[in-house]
Amino acid sequence: MSNPGTLHVVGAGLAGLSAAIAAAKAGTRVVVHEAAGHAGGRCRSFLDEKLGRVIDNGSHLVLGANRTTLAYARATGGIEAMVAAPAAFPFIDLVSAKSWTVTPKRLPAGIREILKALGLPWTGKAETVASRLGNTPSFTRLWLPMCEAIMNTAPDEASARMFAWTMRKALLGGSQALTPWIFPGGLSAALVAPALATLSLFGGEIHFRRRLKSVTSHSLTFDDTKIDLGPADRVVLALPPWVTATLLPGTVCDLPTRPIVNAHFRCAQPVELPHGSHFLGLVNASGHWLFARGDVLSVTVSAAGSLVDLDNDSIAERLWEEIRRALVLPPIAPPPYRIMKEKRATLAHDNRTVATRPGPVSGFEGIFLAGDWIASPWPCTIEAAISSGLAAARLGLDRPGLAF
Ligand SMILES: Cc1cc2nc3c(=O)[nH]c(=O)nc-3n(C[C@H](O)[C@H](O)[C@H](O)COP(=O)(O)OP(=O)(O)OC[C@H]3O[C@@H](n4cnc5c(N)ncnc54)[C@H](O)[C@@H]3O)c2cc1C
Repeated sequence: MSNPGTLHVVGAGLAGLSAAIAAAKAGTRVVVHEAAGHAGGRCRSFLDEKLGRVIDNGSHLVLGANRTTLAYARATGGIEAMVAAPAAFPFIDLVSAKSWTVTPKRLPAGIREILKALGLPWTGKAETVASRLGNTPSFTRLWLPMCEAIMNTAPDEASARMFAWTMRKALLGGSQALTPWIFPGGLSAALVAPALATLSLFGGEIHFRRRLKSVTSHSLTFDDTKIDLGPADRVVLALPPWVTATLLPGTVCDLPTRPIVNAHFRCAQPVELPHGSHFLGLVNASGHWLFARGDVLSVTVSAAGSLVDLDNDSIAERLWEEIRRALVLPPIAPPPYRIMKEKRATLAHDNRTVATRPGPVSGFEGIFLAGDWIASPWPCTIEAAISSGLAAARLGLDRPGLAF
């Protein structure tokens, strides 16, 4: 081992957990500090007392193309709590009532459109998904829902280059790359709890309710304690960009964000989606993706815009009405529900923001940055978060080949 000091990881979201696991498994002493009373950050589950069910802050899906995520899940054993669903994405259009299924072999688009989506011919720096694909026949039924789901950004501002990169990863990687991995027992059971157990197994420590107030290359000051750093100690700050900006002024410029709204409905009985799928894409609707887990139906609204400003009852009524139409349910009032508003769910993936995501080197000796917002070809996703944590651990430990 080239660095015998301690690696302090601040923030126990997936980026922080990724850095901590990689370093601890390599034999480094690791201490994680997290402000909240739990790990997982924007990707977590909790017991909702009102619904009497464990729900996720928001339904998440990863694709087989997210290789670093799957490597992390394999290394912690969390993969056992994930299921590889068939590479088939069912959709329903709530205006026309038409339904269709997208598979790697059945894309509802012609070859010229697909090449355009893949970034060919050459995609300009200023192009948006709408300027590139907005007038194609399959825009509403394919590229629009893909763009909102992957980029959490409306097509008229989403970077066409970033979209094309994700499309190349997903569509050119065979059916394995398009395989959706889902979380039947919740996000924490797959991505958080096994990581904490692995950290503990390899001697790592984690301290909850410990908020970082200031940081230098010589010390970390939390609300209740100060830690002096030795010359061999290293720090990974795996924090949201706005927190990093206040702790290390000048390192991070203002990065705009976009919200995601999730509505979870506890139905009277378990709900089956068409074709036994775990999810259903909604087109021409406020809601974008419907997920079924037992008797809980969850709707995700990406790039949620002004919906986030509505009161919870209005959101629930609007989304429940769409569920009723999609699943042809009788006209009954919304069952008990929980609305989750993540106002800063991800960065806005417009061309300017994508170009200004900073790298992992903070400019402060021994301090490295991680988080889904760190420069990456991936948009802000689980894959970006986990990859950034691994990259920061590699830099901190000076071990370029470090793996989980
Ligand atoms: C509703 C929703 C749906 C999503 N859906 C998907 C999806 O389907 N697929 C996908 O790949 N991605 C999805 N994402 C994105 C994914 O959840 C994030 O990219 C990922 O969780 C970010 O992890 P992170 O570690 O970078 O950041 P965070 O999870 O934000 O972690 C930062 C951590 O730092 C802690 N912290 C903050 N301030 C301090 C401080 N001062 N001191 C100590 N700790 C501090 C926080 O409490 C938090 O635990 C979704 C996100 C949301 C919100």
